Amino acid sequence: MTGVVLQLDAVGKSYRTGTLRVDALRGIDLGIGVGEYVAIMGPSGSGKSTLMHILGCLDTPTSGTYRLVGVDVGELTEDELAEVRNRLVGFVFQQFNLLAHLTALRNVELPLAYAGVPGDERRRRALAALDRVGLSDRVGHRPRELSGGQQQRVAIARALVTDPALILADEPTGNLDSRSTRDVLALFDELHDQGRTLVLITHEEEVAARAQRVLRIHDGGLRVPAQAVRR
Ligand code: ADP
Ligand code: MG
Repeated sequence: MTGVVLQLDAVGKSYRTGTLRVDALRGIDLGIGVGEYVAIMGPSGSGKSTLMHILGCLDTPTSGTYRLVGVDVGELTEDELAEVRNRLVGFVFQQFNLLAHLTALRNVELPLAYAGVPGDERRRRALAALDRVGLSDRVGHRPRELSGGQQQRVAIARALVTDPALILADEPTGNLDSRSTRDVLALFDELHDQGRTLVLITHEEEVAARAQRVLRIHDGGLRVPAQAVRR
């Protein structure tokens, strides 16, 4: 491990809906190093997605501090937060979250377009990312013309294309059959072997077992991790 990608200190997140307050995260202390492959497990409603939103700078903590590549995200404006998110984080979601009217290539180009990368370089990098996930022959297909597993691989290409410091996947295999699940997990293994930092959120033990370290969240709190280094 050559450095720290992210660090949470006593992070809490409360939601308010009318007079009701839900403490979705409480006192989370967590550090993740460069090149680590970490799985976060927990039952439905335990706070997994809330934690992913904070890790990915889609939301900010209501208490404690979160540093991503040394940047204290609590100190940032909305615009700065969006910039950090686009530059440093790649997302993979259960529902793929591809734009239905855009081809695979255009979907993968999108984060580069937001980052202001010129058209020809955008295209070249998006094609390379699609090749990386084994979809060179599907670049002109729209999401509805692809299988679920292929759509998720397009989403992984989109997550990779900006060369992010952190790849976050929230239940990435939740909508996939067993064959596509194997393909996607094999791809994550390869990305890990190449030194990528991966955080994968799941409620499936078999999926979590692929990671080097498994963290368990219950009722918004993290159980002290068992350090289980697999390779
Ligand atoms: P998980 O992903 O583990 O199923 P979540 O992080 O989605 O859990 O939710 C954790 C808790 O926070 C739940 O009790 C949920 O109802 C609540 N919650 C999540 N998002 C919101 C929100 N935007 N507003 C209010 N409560 C929320
Ligand atoms: Mg969730």
